[in-house]
Amino acid sequence: MNKFRIGHGYDIHRLVPGRRLVLGGVEIPFNLGLDGHSDADVVSHAIIDALLGAVSLGDIGFHFPDDDPAYKGAESIELLKKTRAIVGEKSFAVGNIDVTIIAENPKLAPYIKEMKCRVAEAAGISPGDVSIKATTNEKMGTIGRGEGIAAFSVALLYK
Ligand SMILES: [Zn+2]
Repeated sequence: MNKFRIGHGYDIHRLVPGRRLVLGGVEIPFNLGLDGHSDADVVSHAIIDALLGAVSLGDIGFHFPDDDPAYKGAESIELLKKTRAIVGEKSFAVGNIDVTIIAENPKLAPYIKEMKCRVAEAAGISPGDVSIKATTNEKMGTIGRGEGIAAFSVALLYK
């Protein structure tokens, strides 16, 4: 494999009542949370897919199946740590990670710094090598109506 590999990941989950909102391993106070088998942390999920994509090792559903009781309620930031080990077995380490979160609400700016620290720790890099940006969908479409939150990520890995 090439010395440098780039990967891309995308994820989206529905916002529903009675669930915690966890993004980038950080619990954010909000009246709705993301629905899913695990904690439905779209930020961690998008990053996991970016890391796996970089080394052509499938996707999150292959490594952490959502019908496996082992991952029910799982902290996805812990799955990111496991993914770092998976790419490590292929002799790859994470260089940097860039994430864009698309959410109409809540305002995420106060939590970005903590998210970067949690993601950096899980990925084995410094917070300066993690970028997390949040934007809205300008009130358009499903995300614009507040029905869910999505995240995109790209990651560079090196041998
Ligand atoms: Zn997901």
